[in-house]
Amino acid sequence: MGRTFFVGGNWKCNGTTEQVEKIVKTLNDGKITASNVETVVSPPYVFLPTVKASLRPEIQVAAQNCWVKKGGAFTGEVSAEMLANLGVPWVILGHSERRALLGESNEFVGDKVAYALAQGLKVIACVGETLEQREAGSTMEVVSAQTKAIADKITDWTNVVIAYEPVWAIGTGKVATPAQAQEVHANLREWLKTNVSPEVAETTRIIYGGSVTGASANELAAQPDVDGFLVGGASLKPEFIDIINAAS
Ligand code: PGA
Repeated sequence: MGRTFFVGGNWKCNGTTEQVEKIVKTLNDGKITASNVETVVSPPYVFLPTVKASLRPEIQVAAQNCWVKKGGAFTGEVSAEMLANLGVPWVILGHSERRALLGESNEFVGDKVAYALAQGLKVIACVGETLEQREAGSTMEVVSAQTKAIADKITDWTNVVIAYEPVWAIGTGKVATPAQAQEVHANLREWLKTNVSPEVAETTRIIYGGSVTGASANELAAQPDVDGFLVGGASLKPEFIDIINAAS
């Protein structure tokens, strides 16, 4: 049983009403030729309801974050229950920008993943090493610790997609080579096999993120353990359609 290719577009903290309308129009008009691909876009919270209502039905939406537990007196936060109530099916958790800039620890991300799943959301869980960590040879140590913090809190991986996003590749134009991506994806799958189960290793989508473009997507997509992409900058542009179509 093959893993369905998965392409996520992370719009990050970008967009005005007008720009969002334009992106939605591009997505709605785009020719999706790939037949077996799951596509999700992740606008900022404030645009989620309109984007969800105006997008073609085969493209789903994701939030970029949610609160770690039940809502309440947490000014500025959005709870998993609210997303579920709005019919937002997916949430991105543990993005490196939040880990680095907002101090989200591995354990905090693990708790968020568990709580969001328990509310019925599907989760794109991000892991990835910094350049210093890669140069120190600790890539696998870092990504397995990040994955373990999630594995410690959940048992059912059905609704989890792991996004391997090396920090040095995010927003830098310095995409990982297909061999670099394949190596970490294969190692992560092996980690899941040993530490979770062979079935979870076989069925969990591991997608790559970090400066993916229409030009780099095909070769990366051809790697056996690359099951899709999480795309930042290029997801705001028409080439996002080409990236979706990299699913063969
Ligand atoms: P990028 O971002 O494609 O702009 O590098 C990817 C991400 O942060 O998800």
